[in-house]
Amino acid sequence: MIVHCCHCRWCQRETGAAFAVNAMIEADRVRLLEGDVEVVVTPSASGKGQRISRCPRCRVAVWSNYAGAGDTIHFVRVGTLDAPDRLPPDVHIFTASKQPWVILPPHTPAVPEYYKSAEIWSAASLERRERVRARRAQTQ
Ligand SMILES: [Zn+2]
Repeated sequence: MIVHCCHCRWCQRETGAAFAVNAMIEADRVRLLEGDVEVVVTPSASGKGQRISRCPRCRVAVWSNYAGAGDTIHFVRVGTLDAPDRLPPDVHIFTASKQPWVILPPHTPAVPEYYKSAEIWSAASLERRERVRARRAQTQ
């Protein structure tokens, strides 16, 4: 639905790098081709924690689930995909804590912290998220 490049300190710490690139994808559109993931509960900035799904062998993080969307939306680590070039960031977030040597591209939206979805997401992506929320409401 959207690709975040997150420059928050938490993402910097968890990746050991300058930012994390996460693609928000409906959980039912994400298919594990082999094996299973190991879920590790990890603190998050919100205090509600995130569940990081990791490769059981090498422990690389492949996606996260946050308290807000729960299990219905995976935040897939773009760098773990076979074709990460196909998912460049749609928006840079938490740029207030961005590493000073990271130069942002001039035509990609960037916000100091977070944003309102209606201002950044495409209509098609907002529709997809609505469908996820409707399904989630039915099962609760
Ligand atoms: Zn972050």
